[in-house]
Amino acid sequence: HPDSTAVIGAGIAGLACARALADAGRPVAVFDKGRGPGGRMSSRHLTGAVVELGAQYFSVSDATFRERVAGWQRAGVVAPWPAAVWRLAAGDAARRVDDRPRFTGAPRMSALLRHLADDLPLHTATRIVALENAADGWRLVSEAGTRHGPFRAVALALPTPQAEALVAPHDAALAEACRGIPQRACWAGWAQFDAPLPALPGLAADWQALEPAEGPLRLVTRNQTKPGRETQGESLTLLARLAWSEQHLEEDAGSVTARLLDALQAALPEGITLPMPRHSGAHRWRFAQPAPPTERGALDFRLGEGGLALCGDAWRDARVEDAWLSGHHLGLALTRRHPTPHPTETA
Ligand code: FAD
Repeated sequence: HPDSTAVIGAGIAGLACARALADAGRPVAVFDKGRGPGGRMSSRHLTGAVVELGAQYFSVSDATFRERVAGWQRAGVVAPWPAAVWRLAAGDAARRVDDRPRFTGAPRMSALLRHLADDLPLHTATRIVALENAADGWRLVSEAGTRHGPFRAVALALPTPQAEALVAPHDAALAEACRGIPQRACWAGWAQFDAPLPALPGLAADWQALEPAEGPLRLVTRNQTKPGRETQGESLTLLARLAWSEQHLEEDAGSVTARLLDALQAALPEGITLPMPRHSGAHRWRFAQPAPPTERGALDFRLGEGGLALCGDAWRDARVEDAWLSGHHLGLALTRRHPTPHPTETA
């Protein structure tokens, strides 16, 4: 359809953008290199457990986003979690003092993304390697050599280095904006156990998430405490601090996994021994979160001259809510920009 918009990236920003367009009756097609939607909110399926490798939970402050989250709760794809985040400092745990409600996807984070993608034309396992601009619109060239299009507009809902590579030949200003926001890296480990962890003194027996005060780890979550996963056995997600991740970025996943498990052991109170995991591993997020922008624009997305546009967490802040808002706002802006079908179509 000549009035169609292509969205590259089926993370929460790309899907929010595509939904805003589709809800306004605009034709849209979504492309992602992954096997399914999700991006940095994707979940890994192990035998007998699902572990989260990216965002573990999200919070809500914007009124429009709050309304959406309530709808997702009613649809059963989002639920409140965790009840508390504990801080583990020199063996002493304290409940984090902050009463912000937090949410996660149910029964896994990717359930929310699948819900958003539900009736959208989504091309998965389709890595876009180039854009082509012709008189009749934009075409997307996939790694397999297929050309998709033409499209009137292309929204790139990608981490900035990936967006920059695609827009650079066509729009110097957008490419420059991408270069202004480098992405930080993060290692995310996981470990699956045959038995529950030993009780930790000072923590509720059913603790859900904890933040070690020091060391390589910034957040440890228990996946079986997340809504809808009560029947899966003990498994942890171990998120490393960004600076530590960057120091160890090119190490192999096996040795990073061992370091993250050692870091957890070191953070536990004396006398508590972590059992041997049945399965463990680590995922390297090269583009985990945008560095804070040197200056924030008035808008939380970018519109280029020739029909290219950028959205995603980079243009707002490094969180799920920000990524959704950026994508949603771009979708609304593209809808306003093309309020009626192009005159040549109606002629
Ligand atoms: P992404 O989710 O990165 O989506 C981009 C998509 O583009 C991906 O699906 C990718 O496969 C696809 N793609 C890339 N290049 C191409 C290409 N060439 N062709 C086709 N497809 C392509 N946020 C919170 O609010 N709370 C948290 O607790 C939290 N924890 C986090 C922990 C980790 C380890 C990480 C990595 C992130 C965390 N975040 C958290 C941040 C949050 O996950 C992101 O802000 C949000 O998911 C970004 O969404 P997005 O749509 O902008 O980008």
